[in-house]
Amino acid sequence: MLIQAITLFPEMFQSITEHGVTGRAKKQAIWQFNAINPRRFADNKLGYIDDRPFGGGPGMIMMAPPLQAAIDEARSRHNGSRRVIYMSPQGRPLTHSKVSELASVDNLIVLCGRYEGIDERLMQSIDEEICIGDFVVSGGELPAMMLMDAVLRLVPGVLGDMQSAEQDSFANGLLDCPHYTRPTEFQGMAVPEVLRSGNHGLIAEWRLKQSLQRTLARRPDLLEKRELTPQESRLLQQIRQEERESHYN
Ligand code: SAH
Repeated sequence: MLIQAITLFPEMFQSITEHGVTGRAKKQAIWQFNAINPRRFADNKLGYIDDRPFGGGPGMIMMAPPLQAAIDEARSRHNGSRRVIYMSPQGRPLTHSKVSELASVDNLIVLCGRYEGIDERLMQSIDEEICIGDFVVSGGELPAMMLMDAVLRLVPGVLGDMQSAEQDSFANGLLDCPHYTRPTEFQGMAVPEVLRSGNHGLIAEWRLKQSLQRTLARRPDLLEKRELTPQESRLLQQIRQEERESHYN
């Protein structure tokens, strides 16, 4: 997989290309990274690629010609499937299903805005706009790295154990269950007995029940959309029953 960022700050991407699981996977050539700085395509010696907005108002706008040239170069680098994404607070929210769709794209091109954003006429060269949350940050680099990290986790070989991505929150539509590790006792709190029982069937059911319970408490919207398996329906009934009982006790 080739991921290309069109960015005024290529060095920022070192945090993802050189660290953690994504850094290791890049060393193993599971993915490649290429940053294209649109300043290379500036029409002036000083490298300005932004200008004042028509109509007046605060801030600067990234100009269309240098960004278009950067997109064209990024496109020409790879023959496989490709997607041009503009990180934007006005885009569709980034979700697990979007991330897993993008994990199979060969040439992912991520345009990072700065200032007040980009000239609207670039939209014709952009396949989609993606938003990382209902707030504004000062540039598209951090949002792009969030998207890249989330996508790369789903690319085979990036995580040591592929199962861990499958068990993460959202992957199967539920929040993850709570986790424990040594020591068995911490500030008077013990690890739940079942996790030390060695009974894999019981452990799996306990984890599923915890996932359901958390999802019900924190993200009921996820459960509303879900088609429950018979086991999940039974566990949810149990959870609701237990909640009623604790309410009356
Ligand atoms: N004036 C724009 C915001 C510009 S912020 C607006 O209100 O829509 C500068 C750049 O940061 C944007 O071009 C975009 O690339 C990036 N950015 C800011 N917030 C973002 C978010 N929530 N999701 C994705 N990208 C974001």
